[in-house]
Amino acid sequence: MMRRPPPNRQNRSRSKIAKLSLGQADQKEVYRGSSKQDLLDLTREEMVGHLGASLDLAPFRARQLIAWLYRRCVTDFSQMTDIAKTVRDELAARCIISRPQCRTVLIAQDGTRKYLFQLADGNCIESVLIHQPSRWTLCVSSQVGCAIGCSFCRTAKMGFKRNLLAAEIVGQVLAVKEDIARLSAHETPPAAVEDFSNIVFMGMGEPLHNLDNVIRAVCILNDNLGLNYSARKITVSTSGLVPAIKKFGASRAGANLAISLNATTDAVRSVLMPINKKYPIAELIGALREYPLKRGRRITIEYVMISGLNDTLADLARLPKLLRGIPVKINLIPYNASPEESYAPPPPAHVAFWQQSLLDAGMNSTIRWSKGLDINAACGQLATAFKDKQAV
Ligand code: SF4
Repeated sequence: MMRRPPPNRQNRSRSKIAKLSLGQADQKEVYRGSSKQDLLDLTREEMVGHLGASLDLAPFRARQLIAWLYRRCVTDFSQMTDIAKTVRDELAARCIISRPQCRTVLIAQDGTRKYLFQLADGNCIESVLIHQPSRWTLCVSSQVGCAIGCSFCRTAKMGFKRNLLAAEIVGQVLAVKEDIARLSAHETPPAAVEDFSNIVFMGMGEPLHNLDNVIRAVCILNDNLGLNYSARKITVSTSGLVPAIKKFGASRAGANLAISLNATTDAVRSVLMPINKKYPIAELIGALREYPLKRGRRITIEYVMISGLNDTLADLARLPKLLRGIPVKINLIPYNASPEESYAPPPPAHVAFWQQSLLDAGMNSTIRWSKGLDINAACGQLATAFKDKQAV
């Protein structure tokens, strides 16, 4: 006689089968917890097509909606007063305008704000509003967790859960904008926070593992009828997925590219970033040499400096040679220490020495001192803590 599997195993196999049999559209429904179309998931062209096909609405309705969604940050169709009530009712019956739910905001002494957002399916992601001397920058997540497994990263410890939908990426931007507007309107004196001019995809996840949704999100952020972020002000960072770098370069996104390099030898880079075994340094640099850069742009090279591991004089000599001839800006990032890691940042004087040496070698180089140290602003730290708390 066949034995029935224990109930938990049976449930597991059922959910596995359900997952395998879900199409892309069904998967989206599970993530957003609704069978309705999320309007934040559509570029302008897609919205024109969707409204025409499913509601028989003229293209100008998409333009009206984009203004309500992104200029006035409205989430309730009944507030769209220049749209006829019958149309609003139809829209409400078939569409939603999502927002991630803000669970926590941590505020650092330097003004950096770290948000923990919960998505409709219960998963959590982080966004960080970073205070820099001359501007504010928003760092958004592109995945729940990450599959890349970099040894210096907290998000890697979560493993990979899922890709974010374009709406969930754009939703982070809108939710932070709403928080800033609320603070400016209600706090006396106003909070020391300003709207952000730049957006970087450097939060949780490997953006180029979620290429389609990231490109769609960049196009939505870039739409001049909506949020109107110039592609020059948007930067997408990757651990070095060579085929995806080529696709991203050939795409309509037009955003800046940043590469998380972090080593000058394959031996060290493979320890820090296992993806290097698949796409070693020479292949990665080769892809950067062929990258179709727009005039006046540079590829950002991120170099997380870890004391005694990738900050030797030999590394300093190799780095300019590796990158010679590619328009780059090298961003030196002293490692953001965490009590659970054995890695440590180099002393500030050593970081400054590296920067000066790179400048002397004719390379464009900056230092990104960690922001929000008192609130664990490195990606993944807050979401992991929240998950651990839920598990207790
Ligand atoms: S550093 Fe980025 S790519 Fe590497 S594991 Fe963390 S989130 Fe993923």
